[in-house]
Amino acid sequence: MLSGFFYSIKIRIRTHGIFAVPSQSVQSTSMTEKFIPIVDHRQQQAVLRVPSRLEEPTGQVMDAFGRPLHDLRISVTDRCNFRCVYCMPKDIFDKDYLFLPQTSLLNFEEITRIARIFVAHGVTKLRLTGGEPLLRKNIEKLITMLRGISTPDGRELDITLTTNGSLLARKAQSLRDAGLTRVTVSLDSLNDATFKQMNDVDFSVSDVLDGIAAAHDAGLGPIKINMVVKAGLNDQEIVPMARHFQNTPHILRFIEYMDVGASNGWKLDDVIPSAEVAQRINDAGMTLRPVDPNYNGETAKRWRYADGDGEIGLISSVTQAFCHDCSRARLSTEGKLYTCLFATEGHDLRALLRDPLGTHPDLAISSVVAQLWRARSDRYSEQRSQNTLELSAPKKKIEMSYIGG
Ligand code: SAM
Ligand code: SF4
Ligand code: SF4
Repeated sequence: MLSGFFYSIKIRIRTHGIFAVPSQSVQSTSMTEKFIPIVDHRQQQAVLRVPSRLEEPTGQVMDAFGRPLHDLRISVTDRCNFRCVYCMPKDIFDKDYLFLPQTSLLNFEEITRIARIFVAHGVTKLRLTGGEPLLRKNIEKLITMLRGISTPDGRELDITLTTNGSLLARKAQSLRDAGLTRVTVSLDSLNDATFKQMNDVDFSVSDVLDGIAAAHDAGLGPIKINMVVKAGLNDQEIVPMARHFQNTPHILRFIEYMDVGASNGWKLDDVIPSAEVAQRINDAGMTLRPVDPNYNGETAKRWRYADGDGEIGLISSVTQAFCHDCSRARLSTEGKLYTCLFATEGHDLRALLRDPLGTHPDLAISSVVAQLWRARSDRYSEQRSQNTLELSAPKKKIEMSYIGG
């Protein structure tokens, strides 16, 4: 049963690219404008059914392709203080954009309860994300609560967080004290002008570098640095970034620009394939050699420099999809479970958590989660390659800032 409201975005095609403007209804079009209806997924209410036979979790649940559930990414806010052009373009996420109200957000007790249920199914790694997770008030308290969970065989969880780094310099130590294991920091350029062009809020590179240094001092390493590469925007920064982070303990990861969401005007031409990234680094005299993965399902292909220290990762979500061993689930800011970054529908766990009759104890929710994961057959990125343009049309795709990157 689905209910929800639709709105449209107006795509104006201009010589420099495509951008979208929110609009309440479909209006007349001119030669240079067309309207594409998109769905506000946050309003959809898919009612989950609790199975009649409840089952105790066994510490392992496999999906339809035999992929276990190992990672849970938790979006703690859909808000952000950046407006990265590839994620939350200003034209869409402007002052009129309706972010989720506070009452819609899962509270810390609810997030911890869900996390405990997922851990009982085999999750060993939690990643807090968003939006910008450090904007969530008292995030340290949530981390401490999550730290109180251990795996069925008594091991500590790997609790990580992905941040744009803007608040990291002042928060790194308190995050560590709260129990955070590691941090991933996004940084798309070392050049201030390029970085500002990408974050679109005039934020400086030096402030992010200060955040990285503070995280390192607080023991939140090894720190991963995420760089989304967009052709013609920051690809000239590939080599300077590699050079800067070579011989440091930080792992620089180059991410292929992805067709997530419906607002960033993604085009295949904007993607620099990972193979080309590696080639450019090699050509600049920093010879790379491959390294074995740390674990099955690792998103980044690992490489080390032949001369000197340092590791990089290449995340080839577009050109070399890694769906075959994808073990990640995502919990949106208001408690919907997505079994794929490109899933078009979330499963409303919050409705079960907030059941006014209290008829959904943990075992019932746990049985629902097991049922959903077993039915999972997502492999969007693998399917995308042949039919890129059709699949990337903004039909029902969910924004990354909402689902969590
Ligand atoms: N605000 C935090 C940050 O930027 O690190 C966490 C959320 S952000 C959505 C998580 C990661 O997704 C970031 O590293 C960001 O660069 C990446 N990302 C966002 N949009 C992307 C896109 N279209 N393609 C590839 N990566 C993207
Ligand atoms: Fe914000 Fe992160 Fe998206 Fe940039 S990538 S707009 S920092 S959520
Ligand atoms: Fe996993 Fe979906 Fe990404 Fe494939 S497209 S790797 S299934 S999240």
